[in-house]
Amino acid sequence: PDFLSKITFDKGRPTIKERIVKAVNGINFSVEKGKVFSIVGESGCGKSTAARTVIKLIEPKSGSITYDGRDITGLSREEMLPLRKRMQMIFQDPYASLNPRQRVLDILTEPMLFHRTSSSLTEAREKAMRLLKRVGIRAEQGSRYPHQFSGGQRQRIGIARALAVEPELIIADEPVSALDVSIQAQILNLLMDLKDELSLSYLFIAHDLSVVKHISDEIAVMYLGHIVEKGDKQQIFSNPSHPYTRALFSAIPRISGKNSDTEDLPKGEIPSAIELPSGCPFHGRCKEAMPLCSRLRPESQEIEPGHIVSCHLIKSKN
Ligand code: SF4
Ligand code: MG
Repeated sequence: PDFLSKITFDKGRPTIKERIVKAVNGINFSVEKGKVFSIVGESGCGKSTAARTVIKLIEPKSGSITYDGRDITGLSREEMLPLRKRMQMIFQDPYASLNPRQRVLDILTEPMLFHRTSSSLTEAREKAMRLLKRVGIRAEQGSRYPHQFSGGQRQRIGIARALAVEPELIIADEPVSALDVSIQAQILNLLMDLKDELSLSYLFIAHDLSVVKHISDEIAVMYLGHIVEKGDKQQIFSNPSHPYTRALFSAIPRISGKNSDTEDLPKGEIPSAIELPSGCPFHGRCKEAMPLCSRLRPESQEIEPGHIVSCHLIKSKN
């Protein structure tokens, strides 16, 4: 069922102006209600672009975005407004996303008043204090400023702010990548508890499969603007079928904390953002590349129900 957010882009031209590093090409995914859909890939693969396009921080060049059964592709900023509160983002660097001059309580009450999810300042403040407590920040710390908190606490505040307007869909763009490993697990657990309590759905962006292992229902692996493999968690973890997905797995034990990229991948030339290679986007780094791979882009193939892989090796096996 296409529930919350079905998004399809066609081969959009990358807009250099917006610093979109990679074109997001013909990707297609949907997030089901109450589920966690994760997009995994190295930095610059287009996963953040894809996520931001869902809430229309970036306009897709073509393709469509359907939210809760409604095509929202062409909506203006004003038309998007009532929907914006239903979709909230959590960012990698909570510090950069929190206004340093605002007290935490004001950071939380402002969107409540703006989106009118609270009718008075008093009500908003009470709600903000409850939210702070729920994410693990003492209510009396609400009068402090963001710089007075640790990285993990700031991310808790970022989560509280996202929840302030009672969203349905949370887009979490590498929410734990900047945190110490011990804190990562706490934040992931908090996100999962909140998901159940508040019936949330997540679009979760990560560069590391180990981060999404416990939380995901479905996973898409992205490389240079393409989804190269997609499936439910079980399919991706027990039967990773694209050479790039397998390379990501081989890198798992080494990835921790702030390491941002996979070290086991053959170094190869990472193609330029704007000049996408012909053929398979991964051919320059793929250990299993064949002559065909540099000429012909592999089609997506469903190797088991819901498990989709784009690689010429799959075809040759069939
Ligand atoms: Fe490797 Fe070729 Fe498959 Fe691309 S299509 S992942 S280059 S084997
Ligand atoms: Mg990113």
